[in-house]
Amino acid sequence: MSGVRVPHRPPLLRNMNTLKTFKRILRDYGLYEWRLELHDYPTHWLGITNFTLAKITLLKNYVENGNPESVKDTFLHEVAHALTGPDHDSRWEAACARIGCTAQITRNNAWI
Ligand SMILES: [Zn+2]
Repeated sequence: MSGVRVPHRPPLLRNMNTLKTFKRILRDYGLYEWRLELHDYPTHWLGITNFTLAKITLLKNYVENGNPESVKDTFLHEVAHALTGPDHDSRWEAACARIGCTAQITRNNAWI
């Protein structure tokens, strides 16, 4: 018996849907001034929170090809930073628990 075939979605459409959802999540947590961007420069970082620019950046290739649940978890990791600051401290862990992410710091040998 063959597996279920998942229709191919072009990366651009997947990105647009993902970004739309993630931007709504930013608003849900009151992060109105925060921006969300994708990047494709070489890095080990899957996600970066920039407090100076109030910006969360996710690796474009990861958003396009990664497991959607994993990508969302990485995004929420960064949202928890946006809410609490740059450290992986107890406040950040509490925020992760509150917004529903795993509080993992690395994934697939890459930094989140
Ligand atoms: Zn982090």
